[in-house]
Amino acid sequence: MPNYYQPEIETASREEILRIQNEKIVKQVRHVYDNVKYYRDLMDKKGVKPEDIKSVDDIKKLPFISKDDLREAYPYGFLGTDIKNCVRIQSTSGTTGKRVVAFYTQHDIDLWEECCARAIVAAGGTNEDVCHVCYGYGLFTGGPGLNGGSHKVGCLTLPMSSGNTERQIQFLMDLQATILCCTPSYAAYIGEALAEKGYKPEDNKLKAGIFGAEPWTEEMRRSIEKSLGIKAYDIYGLTETSGPGVSFECSEQTGMHINEDHFYAEIIDPDTGEVLPEGSKGELVFTSLDKEAFPLLRYRTRDICILTRKKCSCGRTHVKMSKPLGRSDDMLIIRGVNVFPSQIETVLLNEGYSPNYQITVDRVNNTDTLDVDVELLPEQFSDKMGEIQHMEKSLEDAMRAMLGIKPRIHLVAPKTVVRSEGKAVRVIDKRKLHD
Ligand code: ADP
Ligand code: ZN
Repeated sequence: MPNYYQPEIETASREEILRIQNEKIVKQVRHVYDNVKYYRDLMDKKGVKPEDIKSVDDIKKLPFISKDDLREAYPYGFLGTDIKNCVRIQSTSGTTGKRVVAFYTQHDIDLWEECCARAIVAAGGTNEDVCHVCYGYGLFTGGPGLNGGSHKVGCLTLPMSSGNTERQIQFLMDLQATILCCTPSYAAYIGEALAEKGYKPEDNKLKAGIFGAEPWTEEMRRSIEKSLGIKAYDIYGLTETSGPGVSFECSEQTGMHINEDHFYAEIIDPDTGEVLPEGSKGELVFTSLDKEAFPLLRYRTRDICILTRKKCSCGRTHVKMSKPLGRSDDMLIIRGVNVFPSQIETVLLNEGYSPNYQITVDRVNNTDTLDVDVELLPEQFSDKMGEIQHMEKSLEDAMRAMLGIKPRIHLVAPKTVVRSEGKAVRVIDKRKLHD
């Protein structure tokens, strides 16, 4: 029997969801126009007035906001209310440049935490669970978001934050955590650390994991599920829209339901800005529907994915987004070929290698080079050069079949690739140093 945190809204009919969205968008646009000068100027420049937006169908008339706009308006330019009404600031991780700060009223925090609570309940969470949160706490939204959601569900919450893996394992085992929340790369590390201590997957009490904040593949999911003996659920979000919980996976594990009563999603062609029909792959754009402090209309996430409204067996009616293939700016162009780090991860795990790898891109004599250091599992380790070379060659061939170009593979000894406790840095692009 599926469980919902807010059943009426999570399973509302399409007509009901649309009715809510249409009602909210009119108010949200008016709120932004009256309070956010930066956006009012963009609307005026485009000749759009708040009265022109009567329903979500009219959203396409509005101008886009990019991360560069937020950086330009840093720090207060997008504030939608008097600062004295705000109770919290969070900030992006700065993965792709200068950090963006976001503001929250108490109302904004409540809605955000409810979104996270929906995700926890969708993963089977109840007030009988012990929820171990080891996303980073602080300015990063991962820890505070899941922490708040866990409180709302009534789980016993362990606010571990990231790092100090020894202590994570001690608390996880001693306090019998049943739900683990962190980045997928950190979950993989915790699984590995537990095994090293001699624990088998069935020795822990975990039943589910809620992992997000970075791209991860289906292969990575299976590997984590096996090592921890759990079901692993994806969760997505970004600081600009509030944080994690914008969308979350249900038991079907075939995409993440977007909380459509709070966020309106569009998929656009990243080059032309044209809105694409359902089922097309493109850039995800979000419009907040009821934010007070940091309302954003048509924010371009740079995340590439697909939306679908196929009926879901969990009973939820909200649109689903696929796992983001990666950010448009994560895509590597190597000798003219587009390569996503996630494709490399897929090949590695399919070929039986560990999820510990490091990609280095460089330019030598005007030619792009792609090198991948891949850590051997202890049982794969060999001191015979011939064997290692043979393994490297067959992995290079498998990569070429998937990517269309052949990287250089370097198999390295176990424990030599740095482990991630937060968002993993998978790519070092040295070409930028030469530009
Ligand atoms: P930054 O943009 O500096 O990393 P955030 O910490 O707000 O700041 O991260 C938001 C971004 O993280 C999203 O735009 C997306 O690229 C990535 N992300 C978040 N959740 C997921 C997920 N489940 N799968 C893939 N990528 C994700
Ligand atoms: Zn579902």
